[in-house]
Amino acid sequence: MRTFYKTQAWPNQKWRWILPILLVSLFLATLIWLPWQAQHMEANERQEQLIADTLWVEQAIQFQLNRTDETLKQIGSEIMAHRIPADIALQRFRTLLKNNHEIQRIVWFGTNGEVLASTSDLSIPPQESSTLSRIDPSINEINSRTRCLQPAPEPNVKNAYLIYCQIPLIKENQHFGSIVISYRATGILEELVPWWFAQDNEISLVDADEKVYANRAAGGAGKNVYTHNRALELPELQLFLHTNSTKSEPKLLSNLLVLTVILLSLGLIWSLAALWRDINRRLAAEVALRQQVTFRTAMENSLVTGLRARDMEGRLTYVNPAFCRMIGYPAEQIIGRVPPMPYWAPEALHEYQQRFTRLLEGTVPAEGFETIYQHASGKRIPVLIYESPLINERGQQTGWMSSILDISELKRAQELTRQQEEKLHASAHLASMGEIASMLAHELNQPLAAISSYTTGAINLLNAGQVDQSLLKSALEKANKQAQRAGHIIRSVHEFVKKREPSREAVQLSDLIHSVMPLVDLQAKTGQVTLRWELAAILPPVLADKVLLEQVLLNLTRNAIEAMQSTPLAQRTLRIRTGLDDATQNLFVEVIDRGHGIPTEVAEQLFSPFFSTKSTGMGMGLNICRTAIEFHGGQLSHSDNPLGGTIFRFELPAYRATQTDQKEPSTDG
Ligand code: ADP
Repeated sequence: MRTFYKTQAWPNQKWRWILPILLVSLFLATLIWLPWQAQHMEANERQEQLIADTLWVEQAIQFQLNRTDETLKQIGSEIMAHRIPADIALQRFRTLLKNNHEIQRIVWFGTNGEVLASTSDLSIPPQESSTLSRIDPSINEINSRTRCLQPAPEPNVKNAYLIYCQIPLIKENQHFGSIVISYRATGILEELVPWWFAQDNEISLVDADEKVYANRAAGGAGKNVYTHNRALELPELQLFLHTNSTKSEPKLLSNLLVLTVILLSLGLIWSLAALWRDINRRLAAEVALRQQVTFRTAMENSLVTGLRARDMEGRLTYVNPAFCRMIGYPAEQIIGRVPPMPYWAPEALHEYQQRFTRLLEGTVPAEGFETIYQHASGKRIPVLIYESPLINERGQQTGWMSSILDISELKRAQELTRQQEEKLHASAHLASMGEIASMLAHELNQPLAAISSYTTGAINLLNAGQVDQSLLKSALEKANKQAQRAGHIIRSVHEFVKKREPSREAVQLSDLIHSVMPLVDLQAKTGQVTLRWELAAILPPVLADKVLLEQVLLNLTRNAIEAMQSTPLAQRTLRIRTGLDDATQNLFVEVIDRGHGIPTEVAEQLFSPFFSTKSTGMGMGLNICRTAIEFHGGQLSHSDNPLGGTIFRFELPAYRATQTDQKEPSTDG
């Protein structure tokens, strides 16, 4: 049961953020734009309202001034029809003045500029009076029109202006003078502008040069945010009604809105960043997890050990590829199965069942066990299985985990080793036979040569007819002794090669040397070598096989004599030294010759079996000597003789045990 994770990444990690970021930015932009737009709309609305109100006010003023003008023209026409005298006209003027407070005064000038009726005793300033009291003679009934003058300061009143308007009185080309009305500029604003409008707006009467003639600011000064200019058309005079709203821009609501929007946006950005961080963290964790899973899957797949998981009922829940390969069944065929399993060998069914029962009881050995599985092909596979409980993350056991090792190769290797060991045994046997044979061949040479020379001597005596009984007996006894020696050699070699405990005894070195002395003498005579024995007076005994040690000594002396064959006769001396080493307290024997010495390349193989520089040599002597010495717990070594030649030296541990059979050491010279 394997899980495969597809490593399907986004084409570009950054791009998938573009859309949400765009949407959020759009949302934020809309949020910010909305209050701004609302404010803008409100401002527009206020401006439009102001324009409409100003228009209405202008119409109202215009209407009132026209009406006054009409009334005055009516009085004028009655005057010209001689229907009313001056006092009645004045009375009518006063009535008009009473009802319209914006009018300062009304005067009727006669044709010569004299005042026929006036609502006030105050004199008209001379400048205006001269203009208004006369009428241009070119004006006739048809082109006669009311005309108004540019506002002029009101005498004796500060910052007050008067607007004078003249109504000429002409009928049937006859001039009757003119009626002059003066309006207070301030009065027009205060009387003709409704209070509700004045409350919300600062109103001014200005000319084209923006000179202010009147101003009304009942509700306070205008804020210069919403303003409007409306022309006030008076006959032959153009003034402007300037309105300036006391209202400022709509602020509080939009500020609150903007603040809310900013806060909301910050919150949104923060939560988006948090979401981003969280997603990135999750992505990183996912990547790490995926890597882990890939690594683990790769690990499981490349394992050579089979892995198998089972639940508490023994149902297979997981197997790795190595296990499938081992038993030859695909995972799909065995996952979910309960025992008996298809890979159980029929002959071991009982064993499996028993072990399975023990497994369910929880008594499985931790050290593993060997058993046999049956491959799908029917082949038997020896396996080594380790079972362990499968513990989940809460510490509860959910089943069993087994690792299965195919030990076919191991078994084959073990079998091979066993067979090789047997073969080795056989060849060792053969080798020891060979060793015995070669040793015997080597060691028996000397006694046989001695026997041969003794018997040849005896035969020579007999042939010569000299029957010297004692001489003959001595030769035959010596030959007999050598024959016995040969027998000893055969036994010793046999024991030695079989590595059985040889018959060791406490041996005096002097005894040993004395027994080989005749043979060494014989060798020396043949090689024309002078012998020098330098033997220590008193030495402790050694525990040894005497015959073996004799052979060692004979081998070393023979090699030494053979090495001196080319040495001048005067120098052909062989020294044999015995003694006790001060440092090691071992006994030593040195065989010192003046022969050709040992070159380095020869020294390297000196002790190898069958190594020889001699044409007739067997190359076994030194090998046997070293084995024999080491067999006695000693050491064999060689060094160059400073006078020329070689020194062979062997050391043996002294035997110091208090044994009853120990012989008294004898002195020797
Ligand atoms: P073999 O005497 O049959 O050749 P050994 O094992 O006794 O076999 O000796 C091996 C070789 O060691 C000899 O062939 C010889 O070259 C060398 N050798 C042994 N002893 C001496 C010695 N005293 N001086 C010089 N060479 C020696």
